[in-house]
Amino acid sequence: MTQILVFSEQDSVAFELLSKARELGAASVAVMGASVGAKASDYFAFGGQKVFVGEDARLADFHADMYADALAQIADASGAQTVLIGSTKRGKELAGRVAQRLNCGAVTDAIGLELAAGKPPLQAQRYALGGNTVATDVITSARQVIAVMPRTFEASRTGGTGETVRIELKLREPRVKIVERKQKAAAVANIESALTLVVVGRGFSKQQDLALANELAKALQAEVGCTRTIAADLHWLGEERMVGISGKKCKPRLMLSIGVSGQIQHTVGILGSKVIVAINKDKAAPIFKIADYGIVGDLYQVVPKLIERIGKR
Ligand SMILES: Cc1cc2nc3c(=O)[nH]c(=O)nc-3n(C[C@H](O)[C@H](O)[C@H](O)COP(=O)(O)OP(=O)(O)OC[C@H]3O[C@@H](n4cnc5c(N)ncnc54)[C@H](O)[C@@H]3O)c2cc1C
Repeated sequence: MTQILVFSEQDSVAFELLSKARELGAASVAVMGASVGAKASDYFAFGGQKVFVGEDARLADFHADMYADALAQIADASGAQTVLIGSTKRGKELAGRVAQRLNCGAVTDAIGLELAAGKPPLQAQRYALGGNTVATDVITSARQVIAVMPRTFEASRTGGTGETVRIELKLREPRVKIVERKQKAAAVANIESALTLVVVGRGFSKQQDLALANELAKALQAEVGCTRTIAADLHWLGEERMVGISGKKCKPRLMLSIGVSGQIQHTVGILGSKVIVAINKDKAAPIFKIADYGIVGDLYQVVPKLIERIGKR
């Protein structure tokens, strides 16, 4: 049976990975930080057979180098063949470094995992060619590091118990010193867990016009997400709101897509949505191919009418 070690600095992502790992082999989890003892029982509930705890005051802050040293030591101690990491910003920083320490290959942004014919090594699926196809990657080294996109798997509880193993870490002093911390100006949006999402695209001609989308979102108690053009090119909204292959994967019950063309790199982030409503003035826009309901029209006329109707209800 293949031995799989899971780590994510986000508990919810670690629970998702554990839930999948226990289907594929013997799943254990690495928990690291300055003080982490109380968490172990949470991981047993999601199928972790062993929880490897690495506590060290130097892990209070996330330094990719330190965490990579610590995770590689835990991977060695656990005897894991595969290390699964959440493909978050930090997870992606970590994956390559851990692989270098374990002298093995790494894959990031995986969207699926499987054992071909029930045998190791684990194979990882990921988008390739700008999101136009899905490639299956096989790491041929003895061990593998695979970083999996958050929300790829459902977290499910088994309610089990397990063993806690403390690992004595041998860490160097951090090479980076934190000299100042600044609070982010805006509240951080959580579009991944939004039940209703209003997604805006380049169909909006000015940044101020996004007030329309905000008003609609308020009426629907929705979060606002956006395309890469709006976040990364125009900087009208923060990148934490970006949906797609380079952004977040969202699974709302209702998604309103406004002035979005619907290129594949964007739509891979919304395929899990239950109902998609698209508003676009071009009836040939690709977004209509995946929309459940489509409104062909100018958003500047359609959205105010929607707000008015919803307000009346
Ligand atoms: C490697 C790679 C990764 C990428 N990753 C991502 C990603 O993660 N997320 C992402 O979103 N994109 C990503 N992209 C970019 C993606 O390919 C598209 O370019 C982008 O999604 C387009 O954004 P958009 O729909 O806002 O703009 P456009 O493509 O310019 O579309 C604007 C749409 O608005 C419509 N419109 C215009 N005016 C109005 C109006 N008044 N009323 C109604 N409709 C109107 C137009 O008909 C058009 O369909 C990536 C690209 C690459 C190459």
